[in-house]
Amino acid sequence: MTRSIRTLRTLDGARIVLWTLATVALPLSDHARASETRRLPQTPERRAVDAALQYIPASRDWEVVVIDPEFAADPAAIRALDAFTVREGAGFRKKVYLNRESRILQEAAKGVDFYVKVLAALLVHEAEHLKGGTESAARRAERQFIQDLMAHGVVPTEDGLRYLALLRLQPEGPHDRSDR
Ligand SMILES: [Zn+2]
Repeated sequence: MTRSIRTLRTLDGARIVLWTLATVALPLSDHARASETRRLPQTPERRAVDAALQYIPASRDWEVVVIDPEFAADPAAIRALDAFTVREGAGFRKKVYLNRESRILQEAAKGVDFYVKVLAALLVHEAEHLKGGTESAARRAERQFIQDLMAHGVVPTEDGLRYLALLRLQPEGPHDRSDR
């Protein structure tokens, strides 16, 4: 069974760096697999995810799985990521996986409001990939999402503009070219 990571993102303070990996085998341990199937307890991370999901239409057909790198077969691979999706057959599993140790998730879990929205934008981006969207499409969706939040006054203009500026600075990801 081949699994691949599609997106590799880290956010470090004001500097957002986005990388993408075309194909990295990502074997999940039995423990990690098992945690997919049961509802996680209300950890701060899960509450952060639920808070982020409030900004995303309930009609979504995917779920969020928080992965603890410690229990993954390749902890280093997971620790290098904020989020990833997993290929299955011709498409993708309808899940967005989050690294529990991700700075974005941890800041959101601490209740830092801006990061809750960054987390939501990250989920919007990954969800676009689950629909088969290219990297350009995923970034467009992410950009539109932040602009909508700004337009509704949910994200302060200054924060939103900073985020959008950083998004523009990121090179197009290699997975867009190699996957399609
Ligand atoms: Zn992407």
